[in-house]
Amino acid sequence: MDIVLATRNRKKAEEMKKILEQGAMSSVNIFTLNDFPECPDVKEDGNTFEENAIKKAVHASKCTGIIAIADDSGIEVDALNGAPGIFSARYAGESADDRANLEKLLKEMEHLPYERRGARFVCCIALASQDGVDGVRTFFGYAEGRIGTEPRGKKGFGYDPVFYPEGYDITFAEMSEDKKNAISHRYKALKELQKYLKEKTG
Ligand code: IMP
Repeated sequence: MDIVLATRNRKKAEEMKKILEQGAMSSVNIFTLNDFPECPDVKEDGNTFEENAIKKAVHASKCTGIIAIADDSGIEVDALNGAPGIFSARYAGESADDRANLEKLLKEMEHLPYERRGARFVCCIALASQDGVDGVRTFFGYAEGRIGTEPRGKKGFGYDPVFYPEGYDITFAEMSEDKKNAISHRYKALKELQKYLKEKTG
């Protein structure tokens, strides 16, 4: 079976690939949108993680002609009423990079004490086959934790350096890739997807 991961973010694609391969899906050939440079990017203008994930998966499947998996993810901070949420990738502006987004988050939260720094990563995975809407399924995963007061660690991407997962006193960016991949929101959503694919393919 051929599957395309509907992303051009190499770090995210690597994480997804690793997790899917751990799940003994050896009969699956995994591509990313970097293998299909002719496919244009889609506008992420949905109102929820689920709407965006479906849009990306349907588009990628139509464009490549194979099954597509898209992830839409982000971080929700309780004290900010769920912000940055679906705007996580562009919290500090349309062309903001990870560092600018993270700095903006720390600034918004600088007055907040430890007990008000609760947050969660959310991941919605959508699976779409060729012609789209008919065959679309979604799967969710969450990682609860809190936001620190300064960046720590060099691994991972995005908000990893400020996110302390529940039960740990190190950030996602200080953890080994394997450790993060065993507890992350993306891992949990991909596990749900794997369960579904295994049932389907036997
Ligand atoms: P997406 O590509 O639209 O799903 O954007 C997700 C954004 O959420 C990324 O650019 C990151 O800022 C953030 N994000 C999602 N998952 C993670 C993660 O595992 N670690 C750190 N940041 C993440």
